[in-house]
Amino acid sequence: MSIDVHCHHLAFSPKNGGHIHPKFSKSYRIRWYLNAIGVLNWQDAFLGRMPEKERLDERYRELLVARLDASPLGHAVVLAFDGVYDANGFFEPERTAKAVTNDAVIALCKESPKMLFGASVNPLRRDWRYELDKCLDAGAVLVKWLPNVMGFDPGDVRIEPFYQRLRETGTPILMHVGFEYAVPNINIRFSGLDRLEAALRAGVTVIAAHCCGGRIIYDSPSLFRDMRTLVAKYPNLYLDVAALASFHRKSRFLNALRDPLVASRLVFGTDYPIPVHAWAFRKETAGRTIPENYFAKDLFIKEATGLEREALTRGYAPIKKRLLIARPETFHQVV
Ligand SMILES: [Zn+2]
Repeated sequence: MSIDVHCHHLAFSPKNGGHIHPKFSKSYRIRWYLNAIGVLNWQDAFLGRMPEKERLDERYRELLVARLDASPLGHAVVLAFDGVYDANGFFEPERTAKAVTNDAVIALCKESPKMLFGASVNPLRRDWRYELDKCLDAGAVLVKWLPNVMGFDPGDVRIEPFYQRLRETGTPILMHVGFEYAVPNINIRFSGLDRLEAALRAGVTVIAAHCCGGRIIYDSPSLFRDMRTLVAKYPNLYLDVAALASFHRKSRFLNALRDPLVASRLVFGTDYPIPVHAWAFRKETAGRTIPENYFAKDLFIKEATGLEREALTRGYAPIKKRLLIARPETFHQVV
């Protein structure tokens, strides 16, 4: 059975647990994504004619459930997205580009047995312990962080109790690493490779998203080497291949596939709803029919490029302790 460890839920209406900053909701970026996944037609996307938030949310949920159910994947970890918090640990809507509550993802996961809950808890929020424990009780298999967008430094000493709680409960972090174009940044340094080590040293299992990013279009040999050094040093570090079927991340993907040590830590992830650039992989997929289904297409392109079969099931390893508690029947099927 195969697993996608990196699939986003998205919601616009506060009624559905969503938050979108007015500026971000009108941006070309968000309209482009919604059009690319079929939530918004191109005329409306071009003219900025957005339907009611509730309708967008409904369409997003329907499409995600239908696509995942029709895909060859066994499971996908569907992610919440926490916001930005001020110095006193209170939510700051003005500085938060987008957010989706844990409760919204808990509700969504009831709609498909293929969905596993990926919680998102900003470690600087006042009530982080309550929120984290609530999510673990509700079956969370990991915690998702985008430190650069959520506005905190993973090396901040105040986060140590959070790391300790994750270690005690066997909960991994899926952490964004490297450059970011999909969502506006608060501080890009917070997603630097050097910020990964605090969690790893604390004994927390980390899945570094996008194979740590590297450099856009032409990967950086030195950034790749630094990542490789971390992989060699920490057996609790995994790397996901989310969004690597895109033209600007292809170079990092190819480098990762060529290096046996790095390739041995790769786990499959898509980064739904980020568009897949099939045209950038024409050579690898030549003469073969690319599937229509988003998840099948992403999987097909990555396998055609050289992703090993093992990477499709390896994603169960970092979450296995949580899976045993949350979904024992699934655990026994897949681990
Ligand atoms: Zn993502």
